[in-house]
Amino acid sequence: MRVLVISDIHANYTALEAVLDHAGEVDETWCLGDLVGYGPDPNLVVDRIREIHNLTCLMGNHDAAVIGKIPFETFNPDARRSLERHEKVLNADNMDFLRSLQQTVQVRAGVTLAHGSPRDPLWEYVLNTLSARLNFAEFDTSSCFVGHSHIQCVFSLDEKSDRVSLEATRPEVVLSMSPKMILNPGSVGQPRDRDPRAAYAIFVSDAATWQPLRVEYNVPEVQQRVREAGLPEKHAIRIAEGW
Ligand code: ZN
Repeated sequence: MRVLVISDIHANYTALEAVLDHAGEVDETWCLGDLVGYGPDPNLVVDRIREIHNLTCLMGNHDAAVIGKIPFETFNPDARRSLERHEKVLNADNMDFLRSLQQTVQVRAGVTLAHGSPRDPLWEYVLNTLSARLNFAEFDTSSCFVGHSHIQCVFSLDEKSDRVSLEATRPEVVLSMSPKMILNPGSVGQPRDRDPRAAYAIFVSDAATWQPLRVEYNVPEVQQRVREAGLPEKHAIRIAEGW
């Protein structure tokens, strides 16, 4: 089975379209959450995600906030401004869809899926080998896919030596998955690893391979919509620089 793994789209419709085009035919799509927040196109993104067949979609912390499950005060002021706007503009069907998303860890084809981490699915960032180590004990499958940090990366645990390492992955280069790994496809709509191209991954379950990928999209067009919507200028600048 060929699976498209996406996360952190953040209301960036142009980036999402570029990823769906670039990925081509897939058997399933696993979305690790954060459809909304930050960007200019919350309805377009949720509409497009709802059209995807064989979809598993988790709830991210921004999705949880916009449906009232997390107080806006827990977000920084710039993130909050986008959430306040998205809460106003999202239509009733799309709000219902966000409410229907899975808040807990899911297991699909022998892989654990979480937005943040298996230990704390909505909030915790797996950003370093320490947070990865604490999370390896929290799932039983051989691998776990997470989003939330917006950084395309892979952590592995060598169970013999009990060592956790952060592996440098390169776009296009196919990785053979081994027990145990925590893999992050990166962010579609707001990458934070200094590569502004939209990030995603292709997981092939039968071969146990993971291919991190990047695709260019029309950033200036999205920046213009961020400005037209009166969203914080910071959200326009960062998508061109990848932070
Ligand atoms: Zn996010």
